[in-house]
Amino acid sequence: MSQEKPFTIESYLEYIRNKKLMGSKCNECGETYVPARKLCNKCMNSNMQWVEMSGKGELAAFTSITVGTPYFVEKGYDRKNPYCFSVIKLDEGPMVSAQLVGVDEGKPDSINIGMPLKVTFLETEIKGETRVDLGFEPA
Ligand SMILES: [Zn+2]
Repeated sequence: MSQEKPFTIESYLEYIRNKKLMGSKCNECGETYVPARKLCNKCMNSNMQWVEMSGKGELAAFTSITVGTPYFVEKGYDRKNPYCFSVIKLDEGPMVSAQLVGVDEGKPDSINIGMPLKVTFLETEIKGETRVDLGFEPA
């Protein structure tokens, strides 16, 4: 059962590979954490449950990156083809960071803080292996 997965970053990433954005919710005070935490920061309780996020949120911050990590270079991003790294405030409250797609990365002026976003899962084939990364796109 999915409920039995430990509240770790590994479990969180495993959910993403299965195209689910999951967080942990404190059963005592209702605070939600993405990625999942096993201990509530607010009330120090470890009575947590996995909850699936709606995947809706808004853009809180972003940066256009022209010199990427080797992983992004491998994915085909470079100076001529920058990618957008963003922070999204989920409707449920937590902030997550993810790649922003479906926008004009070369024209940061066209990307607006506060714009509604929805989750998308980005599949990349690298060396015969399919990777799934968390992404967001305009809703
Ligand atoms: Zn709590």
